[in-house]
Amino acid sequence: KRAGELGKRLVWHSDRLAQVTDQSLFILSEFEEALMTGQISVCYQPKYSLIDNRVNGAEALVRWEHPEKGTVNPSLFVPVLEHENLMETLTLFVLRQVVEDVERWNSVRNPMGCAVNISASLLSNPAFAKRAVSIIRESGIDPSLLTIELTETAALSSQEMAVSSLDQFKRLGAHLSIDDYGTGQSTLTYLKSFSADEIKIDQSFVKLIATDNANKIMVRSSIEMAHALGIKVVAEGVEDIAALDVLREFGCDTVQGWYIGKPVTREMFMQRWCMQIFHPTDGITAEIPYP
Ligand code: C2E
Ligand code: MG
Ligand code: MG
Ligand code: MG
Repeated sequence: KRAGELGKRLVWHSDRLAQVTDQSLFILSEFEEALMTGQISVCYQPKYSLIDNRVNGAEALVRWEHPEKGTVNPSLFVPVLEHENLMETLTLFVLRQVVEDVERWNSVRNPMGCAVNISASLLSNPAFAKRAVSIIRESGIDPSLLTIELTETAALSSQEMAVSSLDQFKRLGAHLSIDDYGTGQSTLTYLKSFSADEIKIDQSFVKLIATDNANKIMVRSSIEMAHALGIKVVAEGVEDIAALDVLREFGCDTVQGWYIGKPVTREMFMQRWCMQIFHPTDGITAEIPYP
C-alpha cells in the first residue's frame, strides 16, 4: 500500500515537472517570434493622483496573446525570460512602445506620465541602462514623465552595479519607484541605497485595507515614513471606494487599481484617459466610466 502511495506521489511530481518544463520550453522557443509577429503588446493601467484629482499617468503592463494558448500571463512568462536573459529584449521593446505613446498622450493631455517595470536583475548589466537611456533620449520626450518601477528586487545580485545603472536614469531625469513595497527582502534597504522617489505599496496590503486593521496600520505607517523621507506613495490594487477613502484619509498620493480602471490597450487608453477630460467630484465613479 505504501509503495502504491509513493508511486502515485512520484507520478504526480513528474507530471508537474513535465508541465512546468513544457511551459518554459514553449515560452523560450516562441517568445522572440511572438515579439516579431505582434503577439506581445503593451497595455496601460491608469494612475489617479489624489493630489490633483486626475489621472496623470499609467503603468505599462506587457501582454501575450498566443494564437492557440490564448492570453499568457506575465507572471508566467516573465520569470522564464528572466532565467534565460531575455528580459532585456522584452524591456527595451516595452520602452520603445512607451516613449511613443507618452509622446502621443502628451500632445493631447499634459502631463501624462508612464511607469515601466524593470526587473532588478537587468541593472547588473551596464549595457542595459545605456541602451534604455538612449531610447529615451532619442525619443525626445521629457524624461521626467517616466518612472522606473523596480521589480523582483529579491533577484538583485550587486547593489553597487544597480546603483550605477539607476544613476544613469536619474541623471536623465526619470523617477524611481520601488514596486511591491512591503513584500520580499529588505525593501527598506533599497529605499535608502537607491534614493527612490516613490514607493508602490503592494496590493496584498491594499485590497482589504478598509476591513483589515493590521493592513491599515502598516499602510498608514509606510505612508508616514515615506513622506517624512520626502518620498511619494502609490497604492496598487485599489478595488473599491472603501479602500480609496482610507487611502485618501491617510494622505496617499496616487492610487491604481480596478476601481479607477483596468489595464487597457494603447488605443483605448488614448481614447478613454487622454481624449476625455474628467472633473471628479467627491467619489470618482460618476465621472470615470468603469471599463
Ligand atoms: P506589478 O508591476 O505589481 O503590476 C500590477 C499587477 O496587478 C498587474 O498584473 C495588474 O494588472 C494587476 N492589478 C492592477 N490593479 C489591480 C486590482 O485592482 N486588483 C487586482 N487583483 N489586480 C490588479 P499583470 O499585468 O498580470 O502583471 C503582473 C506582474 O508582471 C507585474 O506586477 C509585473 O511585476 C510583471 N510585469 C508586467 N509587465 C512587465 C514588464 O513589462 N516588465 C517586467 N519586468 N515585468 C512586468
Ligand atoms: Mg509594477
Ligand atoms: Mg506592484
Ligand atoms: Mg506585483
